Amino acid sequence: MEKFNQSILVVHAHPDDTEAFCAGSLACLQKEGWEIHIATLTAGGMGGIGSTEVETEKRRKEEARKAAEVIGGKYYCLGGRDGFLMDTPEIRVEVTALMRRIKPGVVMTHLPFDYHSDHRTTCNITEVAALMTTLPNHPSEEPPLERTPLLYHTAPFTFSDTLGAPITPPHFFLNITEVMDKKMEMLAFHESQIELMRVMHKMDNFFEEMAQYNVDLGKMVGCKYAEVYWQHLGGGFQKAPLLQEVLHKKIILKEGE
Ligand SMILES: [Zn+2]
Repeated sequence: MEKFNQSILVVHAHPDDTEAFCAGSLACLQKEGWEIHIATLTAGGMGGIGSTEVETEKRRKEEARKAAEVIGGKYYCLGGRDGFLMDTPEIRVEVTALMRRIKPGVVMTHLPFDYHSDHRTTCNITEVAALMTTLPNHPSEEPPLERTPLLYHTAPFTFSDTLGAPITPPHFFLNITEVMDKKMEMLAFHESQIELMRVMHKMDNFFEEMAQYNVDLGKMVGCKYAEVYWQHLGGGFQKAPLLQEVLHKKIILKEGE
């Protein structure tokens, strides 16, 4: 397999998305010696109850930074606005420039048909930003990369598409039982979301509901807690199954295997 850097950049829309969707896998990668980088395209300013947008952004960036630190990760917040995320030339350049600085072997983002508009927009921006990393005419000030990072997608919280229909089966499940405590430790920094989830999603206990999601995924493949992934196998990207090989001891390819 071609040599890819042992570093991962996760690009999600909001400060708690990474902890909710893929923190267990990041903890596994950290154990394998990988560098962990977590970026959000917004600071989650709409996710506040009793605090202004600016106050909420400040608080949530700090929550995300502390959560990333649990697995030795670095956190970056880019210039999008929560709930108003637009796919603009400026943010595309910003994301490509970040990728060129970090030089990740793997980039991970939301699914193209996720339930949340900001998530879908983030996916689109991230996909095209990754494709641009190697192109010398791209207007980023950072020099081009030698190879395009591999791209993977994380599951939406609902495990359904925009209209609520079941989504295409994941390419693999990852057994995160051994690192579930790390994932919960990371999620626990997002205290600002407890009240918000109570009001917005009628979730009485945000952290327990998140853990239940991993339990539900685990039940599909016979382990206690799982996360799920799709590799981007469409045109323009290499298809080397790098994460599947690095994490092979914890990978379950699909239900029943
Ligand atoms: Zn989100």
